[in-house]
Amino acid sequence: MPHQVTPAEDALGRLLGDLRLSIIDQCNLRCQYCMPEEHYTWLPRADLLTVDEIDRLVEAFVALGVSKVRLTGGEPLIRPELPEIISAVHSRMGGTSGLTDLAITTNGVLLADRAAVLKAAGLGRISISLDTLRPERFEALSRRKSHSKVLEGIRSVSAAGFRDTKFDSVVIRGFNQDELADLIEFAKGVPAEVRFIEYMDVGGATHWSMDKVYTKEEILADLRERYGKIDPISKVDAAPANRYRLPDGTTFGIIASTTDPFCSTCNRSRVTADGIWLHCLYSIGGTNLRIPLRDGATSEELQSILRAGWARRADRGAENRLALRSRAVFVPVETLKRDPHLEMHTRGG
Ligand code: SAM
Ligand code: SF4
Ligand code: SF4
Repeated sequence: MPHQVTPAEDALGRLLGDLRLSIIDQCNLRCQYCMPEEHYTWLPRADLLTVDEIDRLVEAFVALGVSKVRLTGGEPLIRPELPEIISAVHSRMGGTSGLTDLAITTNGVLLADRAAVLKAAGLGRISISLDTLRPERFEALSRRKSHSKVLEGIRSVSAAGFRDTKFDSVVIRGFNQDELADLIEFAKGVPAEVRFIEYMDVGGATHWSMDKVYTKEEILADLRERYGKIDPISKVDAAPANRYRLPDGTTFGIIASTTDPFCSTCNRSRVTADGIWLHCLYSIGGTNLRIPLRDGATSEELQSILRAGWARRADRGAENRLALRSRAVFVPVETLKRDPHLEMHTRGG
């Protein structure tokens, strides 16, 4: 641990370690589990944090113990200043900084043209959301005809020199639960590691219902039937995925946020593109960091806002949802329309 970092600890003893920065709320897809509505209210463009403001925020978060930064959206590749944002965050790595990992989560549509530029700017790793290998399913799910662009994007990643690539695949009963092994086999050739994600009832998932959740146990049962024995890999950090090894050595992960949440070890912070700091994916409200940033707060002032906020954190959103006896949609559409900050595409996943 570098000497100037004093890790921030929350009210449940969880150390701040991971920052998810949404850099844009808009998206070029309309995935049914995330953006199923016809119309959305976007954040005012003037409110989006500038590259310099993002840099100052990252500096403050790193001083409080953040070692991993992940850029997300909306779709982060549609933010024109993405290479500048990556360079700025990358410049905070090295030396005595505790920041060691800079990654992005993208739907892959625009990746083929940009992978090399993002690599040159200092991006470390890429996670690509890939739920299906079938173009007609992709179109039904995302309401866009971009499947071939996504596959092209995937092919460009290792050519651009990226390693440790991940696929994030939301598994939905009745939609793609029959593609688990196909996704694993496809990933072998990329190469990439698949992480199957249980369908979550986050804000924005207005078509969610428990019967559509294909659970971790069901995923494992299907894969055992196909591959035989599956060995769990012991966890080394606070990453959300449980990882497993197939008999041929191939690894994959499962993020069981819905049926087996991992709130007790959650070290994640989220900031929306307009600078609202959220302690949990399920937080109803957050802290506006854009105001102090634009009022000229010093690094020390920003750090003390973050340290005080994190010390109050007692969120266990997914565990609270699991404890409910009857589980309907988390945030109704009318409420989402009044406050886009409640939307998954604003929070970034
Ligand atoms: N647009 C980018 C993408 O799709 O990769 C980044 C933002 S997206 C909100 C981040 C992740 O959230 C994606 O991997 C997506 O599959 C996941 N996600 C969105 N809605 C979800 C839901 N209801 N349940 C589980 N995962 C969800
Ligand atoms: Fe799909 Fe990501 Fe866009 Fe949501 S933000 S609609 S998950 S591509
Ligand atoms: Fe962390 Fe909240 Fe997700 Fe639990 S629900 S793992 S506390 S972000």
